[in-house]
Amino acid sequence: MLQTLPAAAATDEAPSRPILQLVGVRKVFGGFAAVEGIDLDVREGEFLTIVGPSGSGKTTLLRMLAGMDQPSEGNITLRGELINDMPPNKRPTCLVFQSLALFPHKSVGENIAFALKVKGVDAATRKKRALELMRIVRLPDNYHDKNVMKCSGGERQRVALARAFAYDPEVLFFDEPLSALDYKLKKALEKELKDLHRETGKTFIYITHSLEEAMVMSDRIGVMRAGKLVQVGTPEEIYGAPVDRFVSEFVGEVNTLKMKRAGAEWHGVDVPGTFTLSPPKDGASLDEAFVVIRPEYMRFLAPGERADNQLTGTVYNEYSLGSRIQYQIRVGEKVMLAELSRARALAPGASSEVTIGWDAADAFTLGS
Ligand code: ATP
Repeated sequence: MLQTLPAAAATDEAPSRPILQLVGVRKVFGGFAAVEGIDLDVREGEFLTIVGPSGSGKTTLLRMLAGMDQPSEGNITLRGELINDMPPNKRPTCLVFQSLALFPHKSVGENIAFALKVKGVDAATRKKRALELMRIVRLPDNYHDKNVMKCSGGERQRVALARAFAYDPEVLFFDEPLSALDYKLKKALEKELKDLHRETGKTFIYITHSLEEAMVMSDRIGVMRAGKLVQVGTPEEIYGAPVDRFVSEFVGEVNTLKMKRAGAEWHGVDVPGTFTLSPPKDGASLDEAFVVIRPEYMRFLAPGERADNQLTGTVYNEYSLGSRIQYQIRVGEKVMLAELSRARALAPGASSEVTIGWDAADAFTLGS
């Protein structure tokens, strides 16, 4: 039975044994590999999010995990048991859809207790359990008899979650459950889902297009591209140490500069000058490389101020990002991005020449 765990127990003693294990998983549709070469251990109790652009294979992967599709090759095991061909209703898992799929003519309580009714649980016990689950997902008790179609989008999302919990699954899968909601509600529910995850101690596997969503909620993020998992890591690893340009650019707006080696020196290809690069993370010896600098690490240099690398250009656009201002600076043909907090914003109309710069340690060097 689903129980809420004390928050400290769930965080301090985070279990790390894999509950789900994927080895060499591949799914082919008529000769096209929608998913391939997936090796992944999902740890018990973790919140793992799979992100990637449209068509990268996220749904196909999730469908195999939930038992709605079988892999063409490879193995999926749940606590060591091979489950490739196990149908969804035999798995201790539950899928929460974007479309919710609630019963429109039933009340909140009836929707939530549906799984219990199918199991033959009596009405009084069903109501008691539905109310417990409603409290977990923060729905007021007096919603028990309310028609589900009279609930708001966010409330219906909570009903769907409570209904999934009623099955008492070991793993919950989420297929973009928040994508139809407005921004403010989405932000609120992201935090609530994260809290719910911590409180219940269940394993959550979540797919989304939105890296921002993934960053807020996840213990680990897997980034998919063209059917492959290109990087799996904590949000900090994905943001701070992307394995390639695809991941670095997927994770947010970045400056990417191509460099060529000439002896011991690195020369810019898109911008003039000789640059100091941090060594690539994998220690590879490269003749050509990409330097990735996040806008928040690009500094505006006052006269006489130095950075390891610097460029001179012209500010030609600025955008408000709320607490920060983003500047577009044209350096020859290249447009660079730099950000300042609103409190330190450039004087209005500062479209004249500026010098921007970054230290090698604040950028990363990638081979591809
Ligand atoms: P989105 O974010 O747009 O939902 P996704 O990352 O979930 O995309 P998938 O739906 O897994 O991507 O699709 C991956 C690829 O596999 C796509 O090119 C898609 O057209 C293809 N595909 C998915 N299901 C099938 C199918 N049943 N038959 C043929 N091709 C399929």
